[in-house]
Amino acid sequence: PQSCGSVCFSGKGEKNPSTFRDGNLMAQLLAGAPVAKKLEERVKTLLAQMERPPRLSLWYNSSFPEVASYVRSKKAKAEKLLIPVEEVDIAGCQNASEALELFQKTLASDKPDGVMVERPLGLGIQPEDVYEMLPPELDVEGLHPYHLGKLLAGKPEIIPPTPAAVMEILDYYHIPLEGKRAVIVGRSLIVGRPLFLLLLARHCTPTLCHTRTKNLEEITRSAEILIVAVGSPHFLKGDWISPDCVVVDVGINYVEGKLVGDVDAETVGPKAAYLTPVPGGVGPVTSLFALFQFVQACTRRTASPHTLSR
Ligand code: NAP
Repeated sequence: PQSCGSVCFSGKGEKNPSTFRDGNLMAQLLAGAPVAKKLEERVKTLLAQMERPPRLSLWYNSSFPEVASYVRSKKAKAEKLLIPVEEVDIAGCQNASEALELFQKTLASDKPDGVMVERPLGLGIQPEDVYEMLPPELDVEGLHPYHLGKLLAGKPEIIPPTPAAVMEILDYYHIPLEGKRAVIVGRSLIVGRPLFLLLLARHCTPTLCHTRTKNLEEITRSAEILIVAVGSPHFLKGDWISPDCVVVDVGINYVEGKLVGDVDAETVGPKAAYLTPVPGGVGPVTSLFALFQFVQACTRRTASPHTLSR
């Protein structure tokens, strides 16, 4: 294997990351595009084995402008793969009960094969409550208590797509995980907490940080693998990391109309061994992983239709 600082490539594939900048002390970029491309190929292979493409139902509230653009992008990616998408937009609903009733009616009438929920839903609706009202097999984002329980038990079936995308990237670039000190900043249900469990399952020693964490900079400096998901532009600075750290930037923030991550790439880039870029890192892998998992779950269900009640 080719040695690159404290991590190394096994040399199994074509996975040579590009360099953040010229020079010896610059981070190698862990681009999401080839990882997403590989997932896309896996989706196509699964779809080719199915009698009909599974139908996806996308639930959202278009009164949030950022939601409308995420939905457009998700729909475009699904339809490019010839996966039919039904949209349920609750922007016209007056209150939560009207919106939840619309969701229930959709389940009964359209009989989708899977549901994705775009957040925020507004109207005081917590997306977690929506997942709970779904039969578990229709939750293709791994946030139903059944799926979270399976993940906690170390027997994951459906995994939240963002932490799964982080793992896909680390694996694609052959970043060794076993025995490594991993630090996650951000403890949300959709990113930090499931990521903690996924890293633990791969024999990392993870630490989960949040707003009440004391001496955060000391903890991030101890990380060999550092994942940042706080939702704060340029949050992580170069002097918060050790040289040779693998840094994964989950953040999606808009500053003056420009997409930026939670990592200050200007100061972290020259110091880290590896860095996922924003844009072009975790984001594109997340959306493809969600589709892959959806199709894979439908394939599994067709193979053994009685594993879950419906
Ligand atoms: P969230 O629900 O708002 O959670 C943010 C987490 O960060 C919380 O646990 C919070 O701690 C912690 N945090 C915030 N400020 C902090 C600080 N100064 N020091 C330490 N911890 C801090 O956010 P999320 O949904 O997990 O999303 C996080 C980021 O990832 C956002 O930028 C989001 O847009 C992005 N994201 C990207 C993708 C993707 O596909 N790339 C997918 C989902 C989300 P407390 O718990 O103590 O409040």
